[in-house]
Amino acid sequence: MEVEKILLEEQSLDPEDWGELRRLGHQMVDDMLRHLETVRERPIWQPPTHAAENLKTPLPVEPTPLEDVYAEFQQNILPYPMGNIHPRFWGWVIGTGSPGGVLAEMLAATMNPNCGGGDHAANYVEAQVLDWFKEMFGYSSEASGLLVSGGSMANLLGLAVARNTCAGFDIRKAGARASKGQLLVYCSTETHNSVQKSMEMLGLGSDSLRKIPVDADFRIVSAKLKEAICRDKEEGHRPFCVIGTAGTVNTGAIDDLTDLADICEAHDLWFHVDGAFGAIAAILPEFKEQLAGMDRADSLAFDLHKWLYVPFEAGCILIKDPKIHREAFAVIPDYLMHHERGIAGGPYYFSNLGIELSRGFKSLKAWFMLKEHGIRKYEVLVRQNIAQAAYLADLVNEQPELELLAPVPLNIVCYRFVAEGVAPEKLDELNKEILMELHERAIAAPSFTVIDGKYAIRVAITNHRSRKEDFEALVEATVTLGRELAPQFVVSHDTQNLTG
Ligand SMILES: *Cc1c(COP(=O)(O)O)cnc(C)c1O
Repeated sequence: MEVEKILLEEQSLDPEDWGELRRLGHQMVDDMLRHLETVRERPIWQPPTHAAENLKTPLPVEPTPLEDVYAEFQQNILPYPMGNIHPRFWGWVIGTGSPGGVLAEMLAATMNPNCGGGDHAANYVEAQVLDWFKEMFGYSSEASGLLVSGGSMANLLGLAVARNTCAGFDIRKAGARASKGQLLVYCSTETHNSVQKSMEMLGLGSDSLRKIPVDADFRIVSAKLKEAICRDKEEGHRPFCVIGTAGTVNTGAIDDLTDLADICEAHDLWFHVDGAFGAIAAILPEFKEQLAGMDRADSLAFDLHKWLYVPFEAGCILIKDPKIHREAFAVIPDYLMHHERGIAGGPYYFSNLGIELSRGFKSLKAWFMLKEHGIRKYEVLVRQNIAQAAYLADLVNEQPELELLAPVPLNIVCYRFVAEGVAPEKLDELNKEILMELHERAIAAPSFTVIDGKYAIRVAITNHRSRKEDFEALVEATVTLGRELAPQFVVSHDTQNLTG
C-alpha cells in the first residue's frame, strides 16, 4: 500500500458540488411534503410487484449519481408503501408519523450523534423527553427511563430489570439456572407476544409465563391470578412479576391495574405494565379511572410510534426506581469509563440503562412533535380516535349483516360479516377474503385477529388523518364485498355430496 499516494488523493463521502446536492435536497423535501399533502388521493396500497422485480441488482461497485438513485426510489420504492400514512389504514397497531416528525428525522440524521452516552445536547434532549413522559404518566421526576426501538424492546427491558432485581440472588452472574424455584411471571391470555419472546430471551422460558384467563371484557381475572400465585408459591416456585396490559392488542381491553398493583404489593412482586398504545389514553381526564393504578407500576412500557404518531421507531420504558434500573444493566469496561470533563463526561450514560451501546437520536422527533403540537392537541387527536372507534362500532351494530365481536373500550373495533346460508366454519374464510379484497382493491386497510374462535376484521385507530367518512366507507365496502363474495362460501347440498 502506497501510503503517500493514498494520502495525496484523500477522499470523503461529501459531495464535490454542494450546490448541486442542495438543489436535489430541496427537491426531495418538496417532493416528500407534497407526497404527504396528497396522501389521501393515492391508493392506500398496491402489490409491490415492480419493487420486488426491479430492486434486485448485484452489489453496486461503481458510483451512481444521487439523482439517479433518487429516481429509482421514486419509481420502485415510493409507490409501494405499507399504507400506514394513509387516512384509511387501521391495521395491527401502526402509527402514521407526521410531517414535523419527518423534518426532525432529517435534523437528527444531520447531527448524527451516538446517544449511548457522552456530554452533548442529544442526551439532554432524551432526558427532557423522558421527564415529559414521567409527568404524563404520574411518575416522580426521580424515575428512570430509556427510549428504545419499540414496545417489544421496552417489555424486554422491563422484564429484565424485574428479573435481575427480584431473583433473590445475583442472576446476572449465575444465570437463571441457579434459581432454587422456577422464576414465574403472570399475565393474561390477551398479553402481547413480545412478552413471551422476552421470557425466552431472558432464559426464563415460555413455560414460566403463566397466562391467566380473561373475563367477557377480555380483562385478566384477578381472582384466578391470586389463586395461581398462591398455588405456585405453595409448590415452591418463585413468582416475581405480574404484567398488566393497558390496551390489549386484540381488543384494547384495559386490565384492572389497581387490582394488579394491590396483588403485587401483597405478594411482593414486580408490577410491569404493557401500555404500548393504551397508556397514552392517560392524557385524557375521562380515562383517569380506567387507567388508575398504572402510575403504581414498577415499570411501564409504551410506544411513541403508535399513538403519539412519532415516525418509526421509538418506544419507551420507564422504571420507577432509578437505582434499581442502573444496577440491572451497568457493566462499565475501561473504554467506557465516565470522565469528569470533555465529551466522555456529562450525565449518566443511557447505554448503561439497556442493552444497546450505540443509540440513535430518537428523542429529537419526539421533542419536536411534543413541542410543535403540545399535549392539548394530542388530547384532541387521541380522543378523536376513540370517538371514531365508538362511531364505527355504532355503524357495525346498525348493520344486520355485520356483527361486533368484542366490546370497544378504546380505539379497537373487531367485527365480521355474517350471511345467511354461510356455515359458521365458512364465515372465517369469507371474512378473510373480504379483508384481502379490502386491501387489494385499495379501499381500506384494517387487519384481523381471532376473537373467541371467530376470524375478525380488526380496526385499530392510531391515525390522525382518518375522518368520519372513512369509517362509513369501510362499513359500506364490507357489506358490499360480503354480499358479492358470500355465494362462493355457501355450501350447497350438492357440492357437499360431491366432496363428502
Ligand atoms: C404493539 C404492541 C407491542 C409491541 O410494540 P412494538 O413497538 O411493535 O415492538 C407490545 N404490546 C402491545 C399491547 C402492543 O400493542
